[in-house]
Amino acid sequence: MDTFAYRDGRLFCEDVDVNAVAEEVGTPVFIYSANAILDRLNQIEKAWAPLPHMVCYSVKANSNIAVLRLLAEHGAGMEVVSQGELFRCLRAGVDPRRIVFTGVGKTAAEMEYALQENIFLFVVESLPELFRLNEVAGGVGRTAQFAIRVNPDVAAFTHPHITTGKAANKFGLDPASALEAYRQSRDMPHVSPVGIHMHIGSQILSSEPYVAAVRKLLLLTEQIADLGIELKYFDLGGGMGVIYEEGQRPCTAEELAGEITPLVKDLDMTIIVEFGRFVVANAGALITRVQYLKETPLKKFVVVDAGMNDLIRPALYNAYHRILPTMNPASEFIEADIVGPVCESGDSFAENRELPAVKPGDCLAILTAGAYSSSMSSEYNSRPKCAEVLVSGDRSFIIRQKAELDQLIENETIPDIVIG
Ligand SMILES: *Cc1c(COP(=O)(O)O)cnc(C)c1O
Repeated sequence: MDTFAYRDGRLFCEDVDVNAVAEEVGTPVFIYSANAILDRLNQIEKAWAPLPHMVCYSVKANSNIAVLRLLAEHGAGMEVVSQGELFRCLRAGVDPRRIVFTGVGKTAAEMEYALQENIFLFVVESLPELFRLNEVAGGVGRTAQFAIRVNPDVAAFTHPHITTGKAANKFGLDPASALEAYRQSRDMPHVSPVGIHMHIGSQILSSEPYVAAVRKLLLLTEQIADLGIELKYFDLGGGMGVIYEEGQRPCTAEELAGEITPLVKDLDMTIIVEFGRFVVANAGALITRVQYLKETPLKKFVVVDAGMNDLIRPALYNAYHRILPTMNPASEFIEADIVGPVCESGDSFAENRELPAVKPGDCLAILTAGAYSSSMSSEYNSRPKCAEVLVSGDRSFIIRQKAELDQLIENETIPDIVIG
């Protein structure tokens, strides 16, 4: 499905002209296709259908409550990494019994909140965290179901900042320490071991690292069983990659499930998957308006009204995003850097990019901006967070208003001592 495609020279998202949205809502603006999101969820559901399974969408990829509700309405559970994300899920109407809480640094307050909301599963990443969980659960009179995140020490062949399953990463426990944690949990009355977890990285294009990691976790699962602990959930984490650049060929949901299923089908365990990027990345674009064309002796620049505060992936990961004009792509091409207004040289969306000639006032669509884009945005340079729009068929809905200037300073105060 081509979510963003030209019709008579105008770029559409489903049946909505993105130029009309840019006109009405203003720029920059994120536009998401509801049907593209659901299509991806369906691909995952179909791929894992032969096994008992649960799809927990990774909220940090795109945490707009309309997106969360859309996915929950179609059967998804959620994977959260903070109290704030859990709050979003609850406000969006997600069933807490379908929420998995992961992350290396859960505070006691976060645990207590999650226990009181009766979430399904805590993914624990260290022995001290397990002790704390036991204590907090005892304090509120509940039992916490947990899985240990195992660091399988496999290379995911992705960007170093988004590889998480190597021994040197901060995530999870090595297999021996994980086994020890399960062993010690037998003396902890307020926690109950129900699962085992891995998450080896993000934007992973092949199934091989998953297969290698699953094999390691299977060995460990046997050793855990020898302790008399029968686990019911095998959580594979997220990480499936998407196409950012033409020519990329990530493994499909079906291919990945096809590789893993034979390894786990006789386990009598429910498979959990926590995909984020795969579900939302290609469903979204950031629409931005060209402000100036600027030429220096060395370079051409297209200066746009979106900045690294809106979409930080190019600055943070050197990530590549396809960029298309939203109207009548000219037959004439220019080569230019596409840059934002933020006062950082890193505030660039593309370097030496060949693109159809554009002029001030034209809009550009920065594609594959549905994941880790709005959710990573900030107000740096005191730029209010931009609007988000959800499209379904020929209808579009504002799911986040552009922030007002007043909201930039709403939590700030000037104490008397600084007033002359
Ligand atoms: C971020 C994260 C995910 C989702 O990763 P994607 O690459 O977006 O699929 C899943 N599980 C955990 C524990 C994560 O931290």
